[in-house]
Amino acid sequence: MSAFTTLPLTKSMIENLGTMGYHEMTPVQAGSLPHVLKGEDLLAQAKTGSGKTAAFGIGLLHNLDVKRFRVQALVMCPTRELAEQVAGELRRIARFKHNIKITTICGGVPFRPQQISLEHQAHIVVGTPGRIEQHLRRETLSLNHVTTLVLDEADRMLDIGFADSIDNILAFVPKRRQTLLFSATFPEPILELSTRFQKNAQRVVVDVEH
Ligand code: ADP
Ligand code: MG
Repeated sequence: MSAFTTLPLTKSMIENLGTMGYHEMTPVQAGSLPHVLKGEDLLAQAKTGSGKTAAFGIGLLHNLDVKRFRVQALVMCPTRELAEQVAGELRRIARFKHNIKITTICGGVPFRPQQISLEHQAHIVVGTPGRIEQHLRRETLSLNHVTTLVLDEADRMLDIGFADSIDNILAFVPKRRQTLLFSATFPEPILELSTRFQKNAQRVVVDVEH
């Protein structure tokens, strides 16, 4: 196990992680965070409950510029429940950063409040592909300033049938970006996704699910 203090993070980030009870990195965090912090692409496989959210979340939040009122990171998740969990964890990790805005964009809830929330310029959008795609089509969301894209639980997103939505969304995200792909399993379609959307992806494999 290695401590978060071994990473090039700010003192306030380390202190806040400490208040969350996060002192030692989980294996997927220790494998991923050095790459995430360097801006590299990453393909990571780790089972549920292994701490994947912080494995990308700490890096996203470290690299974020709170003074720039633009969507700088987009996190895609398979379901609304998962998107809300991820947004909650990101907000806890970001607690020491004032004025940071994290918006969830998921289906099954009214469109208009999301639109209003997006008009107030979020730094991070977390959501499900279907609704994100709808906002892009209606031009109520701009991803022109995204520097980091996260595909969380990518295998489940493909199982649900979000492959086309993901393709369509990726056309709206700048080509020059960091792409982080997390999955509990590595079937062929995940490797294809990586080949299409990532560059020189570093691979991290821990606690594999069979
Ligand atoms: P996954 O996305 O891999 O399923 P989560 O990111 O949801 O896992 O994390 C699982 C649990 O582990 C959460 O309750 C989270 O608060 C906790 N956790 C994550 N990282 C650490 C850490 N470094 N130290 C202690 N607990 C952690
Ligand atoms: Mg997760």
